[in-house]
Amino acid sequence: MQVALTKPIRPLPQAIQRLTDLAYNLWFSWNPDALKLFARIDAAKWEQSGHNPVRLLQELDDAQLEALSKETDFMNAYQQVIAAYDSYMSGTAWFQEKHADRSYVQIAYFSAEFGFHESLPIYSGGLGILAGDHCKSASDLGIPLIGIGLLYKKGYFTQKIDISGGQQAELLQYDFNKLPIKQVMKDSLPLLVTIDMPGRAISLQVWSVQVGRNTIYLLDADHDANNQADRELTAQLYGGNQDTRIAQEILLGIGGVKALRAIGYYPNVYHINEGHAAFLTLERLKELLHLGLPFHVAVETVRAATVFTTHTPVPAGHDTFSIGMVEHYLGPLLQDLSRHKQEIIALGLDYHSGQFNMTHLAMNTAGLRNGVSKLHGQVSREMFREFHGNIDAGEVPIDSITNGVHLDTWTAPEWKELLDRFLPGTWRQEQANKDQWQAVKVIPDDSIWKVHMQLKENMIRYARRNLAEQRRRNGESEERIEEVRHYLNPKALTIGFARRFATYKRANLIFNDLYRLKKLINDIDRPVQFIFAGKAHPADFPGQELIREIYRVSQKKEFLGKIVILENYDMNMARYLVQGVDVWLNNPRRPLEASGTSGQKAAMNGVLNFSVLDGWWEEGYNGSNGWAIGSVGTADWDLQEKENTGAIYKILEKEIIPLYYNQGELPHQWISRMKRSIESLSPVYNTHRMVQDYTELTYLPTADRARHFAGNGYEVATKVADYKRFISSNWYHVKIIGVDDRSAKISTSNPLVLNEQSTKEVTADVLFGPIWPPDTVVEIIYYEEHNGAWNQIVVPMKPAGEPADQTQKYKAAIPGHLVHGPHFSVRVRPVSSNFVHDFELPLVTSTLSWK
Ligand SMILES: *Cc1c(COP(=O)(O)O)cnc(C)c1O
Repeated sequence: MQVALTKPIRPLPQAIQRLTDLAYNLWFSWNPDALKLFARIDAAKWEQSGHNPVRLLQELDDAQLEALSKETDFMNAYQQVIAAYDSYMSGTAWFQEKHADRSYVQIAYFSAEFGFHESLPIYSGGLGILAGDHCKSASDLGIPLIGIGLLYKKGYFTQKIDISGGQQAELLQYDFNKLPIKQVMKDSLPLLVTIDMPGRAISLQVWSVQVGRNTIYLLDADHDANNQADRELTAQLYGGNQDTRIAQEILLGIGGVKALRAIGYYPNVYHINEGHAAFLTLERLKELLHLGLPFHVAVETVRAATVFTTHTPVPAGHDTFSIGMVEHYLGPLLQDLSRHKQEIIALGLDYHSGQFNMTHLAMNTAGLRNGVSKLHGQVSREMFREFHGNIDAGEVPIDSITNGVHLDTWTAPEWKELLDRFLPGTWRQEQANKDQWQAVKVIPDDSIWKVHMQLKENMIRYARRNLAEQRRRNGESEERIEEVRHYLNPKALTIGFARRFATYKRANLIFNDLYRLKKLINDIDRPVQFIFAGKAHPADFPGQELIREIYRVSQKKEFLGKIVILENYDMNMARYLVQGVDVWLNNPRRPLEASGTSGQKAAMNGVLNFSVLDGWWEEGYNGSNGWAIGSVGTADWDLQEKENTGAIYKILEKEIIPLYYNQGELPHQWISRMKRSIESLSPVYNTHRMVQDYTELTYLPTADRARHFAGNGYEVATKVADYKRFISSNWYHVKIIGVDDRSAKISTSNPLVLNEQSTKEVTADVLFGPIWPPDTVVEIIYYEEHNGAWNQIVVPMKPAGEPADQTQKYKAAIPGHLVHGPHFSVRVRPVSSNFVHDFELPLVTSTLSWK
């Protein structure tokens, strides 16, 4: 497919022509030398452009360009960057080496937001940044991935904080010709993808973003062929009402699949990054039904090729729509497939609420599903237990792949240079290998402290500029603006807190005892200061109230210049903060933070995490690489808040502050903790490790499964679908008609002693009706206490003798003290070697009476 510039950057002098290539590949955003090269062209314009190289190049005049091409230093730097770029683009990487036999794999990654760089504002927070980092590591590792998203004319929003701490959400209208994206053309005309919506069609233009070796396609409804209201559908990320939301999700999911086809892609893996994109499975179903596949076979085919990642346990994070709304907006598709309307609705129906739930749709149409940290996996398994027929939470088929961040994007160049000097030459490519990081220990303390202090000063200068700009715009006095120059003390222990202001993140927790806080902050010898930043969704009024509260506190005389709140948190600010503070604070209500990633960015920069044991930190914290707030126990939120608040002050007073200020020339103990943090966390919480996990645990098996299912005229898909249908409709015949554990032999050295070492044989008679016994397994289930938790033990039973009268006898040995009923139960469930996981059909027949 041809990709063209509608308004090309005018031709650059021959000698520097390839700056255009650099500007249109976001590879520049994670390469310090490329960034430096652009800054060097015109530092002021580079800043004004919001670090957008396309705008920068468009705004230079001929004389400036000519002069550049004659400047020797610049030309040397240019040559070096171009050489590095060419070598990156043409080289092979991990995937080609490790999985050379999998060249057929192609992954389509669907996400409502992507955070690649501040110059492309189509993200709101963690989910988008994660998607961006995912694509970057996929490129670095040579993983064949195509992204699909939406291009928002007005982005998310620009945040301003007014003089009373109110959040002003400002919407800018972006000129797509000035962003680092290109329009996709077909036969010299813009490619258009059309989607049938109730009473009309919507035409979507397609834009492409180059992210290293991979391309991300973004859909845009702002086209002349559409009515005004439809043109606005892709105006804003998470804007508008429920109607906007469902329409956007249709554009993303259904439009996304259509765009892939129009460009010529038929991927074998479809990754739904959060429920927003789940409609993609309906378009896939439609394609298969049009090929003539029966509905149940089409569903199996789709499931075989789909991976779903769920990102939050917060209910508001799971989109739901009324059935009426779904019937209206999906009208054309449902009409087209009218014979299957009820079955399609059922794929997303939440029987409890009667609503159509995008997470349910994704669960029902994705073979593999995962949460984003170990704890979140566990919480999701609990949440979806009932959805899977009330099996034990541990058996619910939702795994976890813990999030990470793109090391090259988030680690300061100064750190990378330092690591280059001490770590093995392969440390970047093999960053997920712990051995590569051992040498962090031998980096001299003074080198580490020098880098950290320099980054801290950069960050403080940045924060002061942000505050001065806030005040200038708010029409404050010259004196108030000047004052900011003395805000934030580079010598003071500096704690950062920046993230979306969603209420469960409890940004104001530290203010629960202002008196105690005041003492800490104003300690002459050992001062502490706080920097806050973050956006609240424009419809989230409690979130905006948090901003107002922090602002008010920051304006109190005793906190002026020691607690500050910066405006317009974005990726640029995030880099300054995660690289420049001493401590990164995170105190969400556990377990609502599915993973969190900003603390991972901080860790890579030697910033110490001080966090509730939630999300990734529950597994990242090892007792000496940061600090944990509170215990893991309580589900009572008031109690949790009290306990967490107390813990925060106590740990600050007793551990963090004394450690930081325990310094002669250098705070050696602090630095040694920084080293432990880098060494233990960097190799794990990076997206190279994460994307390698996705590849090996989900993408490769899914690609193979998709081919296996679709091959030979959908033979396996048909077999599996028919099998499931047969089993489901006949399962009611399956009954456990008797369990015998009394007459069984007790085998122990002394038959008079019934202890836990003794075993006994149990038999069970199962009536199968028309179901073939080998299509099932019969198991004994009991629970064993281990470290205060009850773990489920599963003992498979073996057939004993031949079946008679549709009944089969089974036997197994279990500990002798267990009695059927109070201690153990027997269950039967269907199995198939073609199931992707054991509980693919939520049919379990059990003797458990209290279920
Ligand atoms: C990393 C990042 C986030 C996500 O932070 P969490 O700690 O996971 O909430 C949000 N916004 C920006 C701009 C980021 O860089």
